Amino acid sequence: MIEICEVGPRDGLQNEKKMISTETKAELIAKLIDAGIRNIEAVSFVNPKVVPQMADAEELLKVLPKRKDIRYGGLVLSRSGLERALRTDVHLLHVVTTTSDSFNLRNAKRSVNQAVDELSKVIQEGVSSHKGVAGVLGTAFGCPFEGEVPVERVLTAAERFLDAGCTEITLADTTGMANPLQVQKVVSEFYNQFGKDLSLGLHFHNTRGLGLANILAGYQAGVRRFDSSIGGLGGCPFAPKAVGNACTEDMVNMFNGMGIETGTDLDKLIQTALWLENEMERPLDGMMMKAGIA
Ligand code: ZN
Repeated sequence: MIEICEVGPRDGLQNEKKMISTETKAELIAKLIDAGIRNIEAVSFVNPKVVPQMADAEELLKVLPKRKDIRYGGLVLSRSGLERALRTDVHLLHVVTTTSDSFNLRNAKRSVNQAVDELSKVIQEGVSSHKGVAGVLGTAFGCPFEGEVPVERVLTAAERFLDAGCTEITLADTTGMANPLQVQKVVSEFYNQFGKDLSLGLHFHNTRGLGLANILAGYQAGVRRFDSSIGGLGGCPFAPKAVGNACTEDMVNMFNGMGIETGTDLDKLIQTALWLENEMERPLDGMMMKAGIA
């Protein structure tokens, strides 16, 4: 059984130019739930001035369906984000740092070590406030400014996040630089260090067309939790770089074909992607929404 974390409402929409209303976001999430999705990265507690698309986190969480079997995640990048998150009923804090100093200095104005120090306290506080906390390590498979990111650096950051109380770790290929053999190698080093019981997830972008190949490599290395976005949302053709996530319904189709359960309804996912394409007023990158189910 594959556990999907749908990141379209956060990672996907955050990278889209068209502003989407809270009502439309709620409608999207309702459709995803109807299609069988149970884990949703729904919001980001990032500075609304920096990312206006995510400014309605509190408002959106208030109107989302409350169900015991649905888990909503929210991105937390700092102490101020934590404070906002703790005032909501979001279930899982996705605490994020990258693992490359150049990337982190540009985007978060601090080194990886400084970020890990500060975020470790954020994690501890999240845990003591009875939130689930997932650690997300970006640029885990390469950095656009530094190139290779040594796996030891990723393992060190993961260890500190786990020590601080994270119950799961996700390795993110922020700018789509991973390749399948590298994924197998990093995952096996991860399991060697932390054991196979660690809940490890993978987050790929399809920037260079390797999203599904990397997911398959991760699956073959033992991973069962994958992030993806409906319609491959996020790769806006008007942005300087297309950076869409691996596409949910394309991934589900791949696992269906291999006889591996995802707990989702492929037809409903495709219908949701087509509906969203209409809302976004631009073609989305998903393949199944164009090909249909054979
Ligand atoms: Zn991402």
